[in-house]
Amino acid sequence: MNNEIKDGQVVELSYVLKNTKGEELDSATNDAPLAYLHGSGQIIPGLEDALLGLKVGDKKSVTIAPENAYGIFDPSLKMKIHSSHFPQEQKIQVGMQFVAEIKGGHVPFVIQKIEDDHVFVDGNHPLAGETLHFDVAVVSIREATKDELSHGHAHGPGGAHH
Ligand code: ZN
Repeated sequence: MNNEIKDGQVVELSYVLKNTKGEELDSATNDAPLAYLHGSGQIIPGLEDALLGLKVGDKKSVTIAPENAYGIFDPSLKMKIHSSHFPQEQKIQVGMQFVAEIKGGHVPFVIQKIEDDHVFVDGNHPLAGETLHFDVAVVSIREATKDELSHGHAHGPGGAHH
């Protein structure tokens, strides 16, 4: 039971996530922890780095810059697109998400505003540009199963799927 967090282990965490204003953005409790596979990029890099070597019961407060969290806000991902570029069979609504191909990558976009024939979209992650504060506690650590290693994520309660 002296496991330390390292690559190839499934870790359960409880945490409280706050922004720099101290507003709570997200949390997970002891009873319903977040499960992730360490070393797989399943959680943001800054948090994964901070957790390396921790043991069950350890607690840590971490401040993570946007570069190691959800990225820097990119104004060029806010765009105004003519509605003719959207599929005609679908009614476009504010809040809808879709994926666009940009420079060979797939970027998820959210529709923010529709004005006449123009659609305003934002491809930034909602937490892009935010410095994040995590208070985390390690709930459990175990070896990943073969399936988890091949899928690249944790299974079971709190994981990607059961
Ligand atoms: Zn899976």
